Amino acid sequence: MTLTDLPATNGAEFARAEERTAHNYHPLPVVVAHAEGAWMTDVDGGRFLDLLAGYSALNFGHSHPALVAAAHAQLDKLTLTSRAFVHDQFADFCAALGDLCGKELVLPMNTGAEAVETAIKVARKWGYEVKGVPADRATIIVASGNFHGRTTTIVGFSDDPDARDGFGPFAPGFVTVPYGDLAALEAAIDETTVAVLIEPIQGEGGVVIPPEGYLRGIREACTRSNVLFAADEIQAGLGRTGRTFACDHEGVVPDIYILGKALGGGIVPVSAIVADRDVLGVLKPGQHGSTFGGNPLACAVGHTVVDMLATGDFQRRAEELSVLLRERLESMIGHGVVGVRVRGLWAGVDIDPAVGTGREVCEALMARGVLAKDTHGSTIRLAPPLVISAEDLSWGLDQLAAVVSA
Ligand SMILES: *Cc1c(COP(=O)(O)O)cnc(C)c1O
Repeated sequence: MTLTDLPATNGAEFARAEERTAHNYHPLPVVVAHAEGAWMTDVDGGRFLDLLAGYSALNFGHSHPALVAAAHAQLDKLTLTSRAFVHDQFADFCAALGDLCGKELVLPMNTGAEAVETAIKVARKWGYEVKGVPADRATIIVASGNFHGRTTTIVGFSDDPDARDGFGPFAPGFVTVPYGDLAALEAAIDETTVAVLIEPIQGEGGVVIPPEGYLRGIREACTRSNVLFAADEIQAGLGRTGRTFACDHEGVVPDIYILGKALGGGIVPVSAIVADRDVLGVLKPGQHGSTFGGNPLACAVGHTVVDMLATGDFQRRAEELSVLLRERLESMIGHGVVGVRVRGLWAGVDIDPAVGTGREVCEALMARGVLAKDTHGSTIRLAPPLVISAEDLSWGLDQLAAVVSA
């Protein structure tokens, strides 16, 4: 699809958006003006089924009534105090999120990258003060193919050239091991290791699911060697995989949950790390902070998200719809699809290179009224809002089947 294929208003708006912005994204040429549930409407009234859901930030769909109501109510009362003062939404949100995670303490931030940075700082401090690692020697083990955000420290331990090249020099203190290889991870642990920082499923990497037992093995290795297990559940967590956390699939509890995306209900950026007092307690006043972290609007929305997840309904729905998603995608193997990975309402779909690139497939999907996003060339990631109807999901998958078999 090219700009000239687009209706006039969409094309003009899209060109305007491209003209005055840094080109750090490569958006599909659609200009969205309104959205509800799983459906988005563009500036010309064209309708699109959203099969990306803001990379899981929209797990509850667009404009979920309960979330919008919570935001509206809070907007009229109080939106920001800074953490210099306490506000009346803070304690309840932190307690509810802590309970959801089965942990004692919560430290709210805004973006996912900030939460990862927070986990890195806490793990290092814990390493020096609790584990007794010599000053400035702490190391953190990470995995190949990771995606943890875009700050200079985080891209320094990415192995994606696009994410990394041209942004050095990078912070030391990270050791990379192959994702899914437990023996390599165990071998990399030494007396300077303070944490293992892992995505329980690699989202940006293409919904890469590690071998069964990997997360349990990490948990055991960390416990054995007095190392913190920090699980980046920013994209995988909060219902996406059919459980509250992706780690739940192996019955594993990390020392630090790193959360973001869906925690803000698709309304405000809300992230957090959640851990017990023996870990998060290492932070003392003045040692870490954020002007907007844990603001009243974020807490009101985030608390509603936690309440919605506490019912288990969204997790169940993801699990139920997963059956349809898996069946339909597996039936496409050999018909333009060469591989699929499905967990909950989340899938990585590897497109046969003979069909075209992931980008080309996404453009063809858009022409049929479906929005999805490619990753790493030939993979398409499907992450529909958990509120999507079975009929709509099925229709969206019909479109995918038609595009890849054409
Ligand atoms: C999106 C993402 C991040 C970064 O979140 P931002 O809010 O974009 O900073 C970190 N880790 C994972 C696994 C993610 O999917």
